[in-house]
Amino acid sequence: MNKVELKDVGLKYVNKSGEIVALSDVNLQIQPEEFISILGPSGCGKSTILSLIAGMLLPTQGVVRIDGQEVKGVSLKVGYMLQHDHLFEWRTIRANAMLGLEVRKKADQQHREFVDELLIRYGLKDFLNKYPSELSGGMRQRAALVRTLALEPEIVLLDEPFSALDYQTRLALEEEVATILKREKKTVIQVTHDLAEAIAMSDRVIILTPRSGTVKSEYLIDLTGKNGSPFAARQAPEFRDYFKQIWNELEVSHEAAM
Ligand code: ADP
Repeated sequence: MNKVELKDVGLKYVNKSGEIVALSDVNLQIQPEEFISILGPSGCGKSTILSLIAGMLLPTQGVVRIDGQEVKGVSLKVGYMLQHDHLFEWRTIRANAMLGLEVRKKADQQHREFVDELLIRYGLKDFLNKYPSELSGGMRQRAALVRTLALEPEIVLLDEPFSALDYQTRLALEEEVATILKREKKTVIQVTHDLAEAIAMSDRVIILTPRSGTVKSEYLIDLTGKNGSPFAARQAPEFRDYFKQIWNELEVSHEAAM
């Protein structure tokens, strides 16, 4: 069964200045433990798709399903990781990681131990009682990822989580996050502007048309020696071919958007 399905999904925003059709006829099926990236010109509805999957927005047409069940409100199966880590500066890393559990009234001993375990497993052992300002950008994002994983989501949505980082940190974190999410067997849906990142991290890349966004095409990414590692993926002989092919397609989309 599909983990996530969007069937004939449309989304119209209505506000004082009128209506904006952000998405129309989006059809998308995502398998359990699949990692997909959504690419497309600015404003084509990528973030809107994530909000629909999270249940923060409901479609104005069609249906969104998780595990075959229609999404009718915020889904507890879904976790989010955003461009800004949104860590609270006055809380320690451990307290930040516990935040979602506290909100859900699940901050018991067992969950505390689980969160400590995750923080330790992902390299933050020496930072449990430190404050966010004492950590590097990459470590902060790792802490934010642990906060997301603490809620044990089955689906993780990544909304450009690396775009505020310098290139070196970005590559390192890309590797870590992909490895962590594979290891934790999550289904991942990522929105990114970075084509190389999309190819390196994903099993499948989805291209949207300019607004109103719909699925234009998709590419199954099959790279020799990738084995879940974006770093290895970038070294694969087929990497450039995918890059060229998808780049050309995005160029066409951008021209159409002008
Ligand atoms: P992307 O993530 O691809 O940049 P978004 O999903 O953020 O695109 O937005 C899709 C379109 O919907 C854009 O044209 C944007 O201006 C519009 N939009 C997004 N959120 C709202 C909103 N709350 N009200 C009105 N229009 C919106």
